[in-house]
Amino acid sequence: MRIIKKGKGSLSDKSARFTCKKCGALIEAKKSEGKYGGEQKDGFYYKMICPQCKTPNYIAEEMFQL
Ligand SMILES: [Zn+2]
Repeated sequence: MRIIKKGKGSLSDKSARFTCKKCGALIEAKKSEGKYGGEQKDGFYYKMICPQCKTPNYIAEEMFQL
């Protein structure tokens, strides 16, 4: 069996690159390294803790494309 097109809530573990809002570090993190951070009207968010300054950054699910 194989998935042709992944559905919502799939377990795909892609990475996102983002800049920490506090210290400015450029971070690449897998979705599994964060925690589900809630839902807003434009989608799901994941809470990613900056490894440098420990500040939580909220990253939109669509950012995980890498
Ligand atoms: Zn930081």
